[in-house]
Amino acid sequence: MRLTLALLFFASLALPSAAEDGVQWLRCGAVWDGKTLSGPAVIEVAKDRISAVTPGSAAPAGGKSVDLSGQTCLPGLVDSHTHVLLQGDITAEDYANQLLKQSPEYRTILATVNAKRILSWGFTTIRDLETEGAGYADVDIRNAIDRGVIPGPRMQVATRSMDVTGAYPLLGYAPQLSMPKGVQEVDGADGGRRAVREQLSHGADWIKVYSDRSYRVIANGVLDDIPTFTLDEMKAIVDETHRQRHKIASHATALHGVHNSVEAGVDSVEHGDYIADEDLKTMVQKGIYYVPTLYVGEYVAEGRAKEGAPVWLEMNKIHEQTFRRALKAGVKIVFGTDIGGFDWHINPAREFELMVKDGMTAEQALRSATVTAAEMLGWSDRLGTLEPGKLADIVAVPGNPLEDITRLEHVSFVMKNGVIYPAGDR
Ligand SMILES: [Zn+2]
Repeated sequence: MRLTLALLFFASLALPSAAEDGVQWLRCGAVWDGKTLSGPAVIEVAKDRISAVTPGSAAPAGGKSVDLSGQTCLPGLVDSHTHVLLQGDITAEDYANQLLKQSPEYRTILATVNAKRILSWGFTTIRDLETEGAGYADVDIRNAIDRGVIPGPRMQVATRSMDVTGAYPLLGYAPQLSMPKGVQEVDGADGGRRAVREQLSHGADWIKVYSDRSYRVIANGVLDDIPTFTLDEMKAIVDETHRQRHKIASHATALHGVHNSVEAGVDSVEHGDYIADEDLKTMVQKGIYYVPTLYVGEYVAEGRAKEGAPVWLEMNKIHEQTFRRALKAGVKIVFGTDIGGFDWHINPAREFELMVKDGMTAEQALRSATVTAAEMLGWSDRLGTLEPGKLADIVAVPGNPLEDITRLEHVSFVMKNGVIYPAGDR
């Protein structure tokens, strides 16, 4: 009797229905797996992982099968430069209002909505590059998503970021007022090391520094700046970050900021509107990634020009030339948009179109938001391509994105970790 029951028990274990076992089949009209575009294929998803990619369109009977014929399936997208806790800052007043009139709690509520929205647009992973005065709230958002409390992309976060005293808003208030800052103010090599230790202890994945400010165009389309940290300070911050097995991103927009960042050995240069040819060479040698954020420059330029800083209009032209030079030099370029620096109702996939306009092929642009982004995040073992063993982060778009990159703005299907989420929030 006992034996019979045991046999029945094992028999039922051996033949579970597909649904009970968590197996799903996505019947894709075409697949771009991170390397090549191929015809119809069935992606088998077992729990949170891709278990097989099989040419053809026939899925096994039973289980859960999703019809994505007429669609191209792609790896989940990565936006490597976001600010979920910021709601646009064209003007200094936009920024001050958020720091002075919104509680960190309210800003965190808004951030949860932003996280849900960017996931619906097909971005299954983001690197969020500092909270702009909202402390360590990004750590909590990341953790709440990981624990399944709220929907959103998986995140790597940079917490408070660093700049030197007197270089980052809020600025310009009466000296007796102690104003909130959008960064942690840090001075000296020891101060830098201490801040790295503090931020990592509170959950930062990345360290971020602001390396320059106050931009002006000098001869021959060169963008000049005032570097914030000294090279000694930068080197100490980079060393402490790497010593603790973390990575460091540098907001570096122009000549000296980029040069110091590259010399100090940061892992990524953010924005990089102007990068000297010599520094591009060093970036290739050291494997430093370039996250150009083209769209935000266009978005903020007119507003900032009206506020009395017309340099932002010229910076866009310089930025395009730098992007083309970086591409030619073979720098590893990663898709990042700075969303939050622009309105969270604008789909960051617009960046793709600018990357293609400025010289990338559609496939290069796609790789920058999948394969190369996963590499920069240190997650190539689980993200970036559609192949067995990778996490089931899969999106679909109607038609062929290699022929028309703007298809990426119309993601119609989103799966993260094997779970399907609503697509296309507006
Ligand atoms: Zn940013």
